[in-house]
Amino acid sequence: MSENDFDVIVVGAGVIGLSCAFGCSTKGLRVALVDPRPGSGATNAAAGMLAPSAEATDGENGSFFASLEALSLWPTFARDVSERSGEPLHLDEGGSLCVGWDHSDRALQAHLARTATSLGVGVILVERVQRAELFRDVTPRITSGHFYANDASIDPDIVVRGLMGALRRDGATFINERATDCVDDGGAVIVQTASRTYRAKRGIIATGYSPDSWSLRPSTAHAIRPVRGSTVRLRLDGPVEPRMIRAVVRGRSVYIVVRSSGDVVLGASSDESSELITEAGTVLRLMSDAIEILPDLEHATFVGVRVGLRPVSADQNPFFELLAGEKWAWVGGHYRQGITMAPLVAKQAGAFVVETAC
Ligand SMILES: Cc1cc2nc3c(=O)[nH]c(=O)nc-3n(C[C@H](O)[C@H](O)[C@H](O)COP(=O)(O)OP(=O)(O)OC[C@H]3O[C@@H](n4cnc5c(N)ncnc54)[C@H](O)[C@@H]3O)c2cc1C
Repeated sequence: MSENDFDVIVVGAGVIGLSCAFGCSTKGLRVALVDPRPGSGATNAAAGMLAPSAEATDGENGSFFASLEALSLWPTFARDVSERSGEPLHLDEGGSLCVGWDHSDRALQAHLARTATSLGVGVILVERVQRAELFRDVTPRITSGHFYANDASIDPDIVVRGLMGALRRDGATFINERATDCVDDGGAVIVQTASRTYRAKRGIIATGYSPDSWSLRPSTAHAIRPVRGSTVRLRLDGPVEPRMIRAVVRGRSVYIVVRSSGDVVLGASSDESSELITEAGTVLRLMSDAIEILPDLEHATFVGVRVGLRPVSADQNPFFELLAGEKWAWVGGHYRQGITMAPLVAKQAGAFVVETAC
């Protein structure tokens, strides 16, 4: 392969790397991706909630406004990926219902609703007698909740398939190897793998949490640590009404994402660990808390469990950091929001390469 055979080389093909590559490919750039197993990281465990409003938390305002912007880009992004790949990406825009099991759980939900309201999010207090359709099949002991109309969801497996399909159709090169180093040789960016060296005009690193360390590294504020999370997968006889419910059950959080296909995702655990395992108690807690809220889930088919390492930066915010005289960008730290942020990083990556290299 001759020098600078690519305009941009993207290292890491989780949802963030794939979206960066897509954003560059739609600008007509020659793109390569380096990843031994695309879509295998945290992306594989994600539930696909695009729910910045219901997730608005004290102290995370920076990422909140970015994820709200990303959410507004999702309908166009989903349409573009669908058209370019032939893989229909269906966005469920039905909002999310947040409920509490007992008095203190409801007080916590009310606190979160006040936080979201203070950030300008439209949250409605809903009573079961008035909005019975939102509470269908929910345990009768829950008679009220908060409804976040802006929240949406999408199946991350289909997002990955769509992005990979679109990139293949656009002629992107997939290099199924692990990068052993990413360097800057002055004129070009260089990615080394065990078998060879690849060159491009610009490079993007999007390896989520990775134990690898290279010549390049992001600044200290963007050092990434892993926060492990697991999701439980169930299946209902489809097709069913899609819905998204978040609940606090005796102080523990659980969410339930039901897709129209009948696929159900329960999530998610959160542990400061890099060990890719799911503890038995995690599965037990997610299933029992979800069944307390939607008792019919007891009869759903158990499909399996997925585990991933959320990439969290030292300052808790996602970043797009330019390195090595703006020839490299390190894109990471998307924590609980990587699927949500995909359209925004696609836009940022396309602009980065066009503005600095072309
Ligand atoms: C349980 C769970 C539930 C979640 N639910 C949601 C949700 O509902 N909504 C939402 O928006 N977000 C959710 N997230 C967060 C989201 O999944 C992450 O923010 C997102 O996946 C991060 O994407 P990424 O591409 O940066 O990292 P990853 O998905 O981890 O991808 C990194 C990629 O880099 C590759 N890689 C690593 N090292 C190298 C190397 N040396 N060379 C080449 N390639 C390499 C890996 O193979 C991998 O494919 C969830 C996460 C978890 C764990």
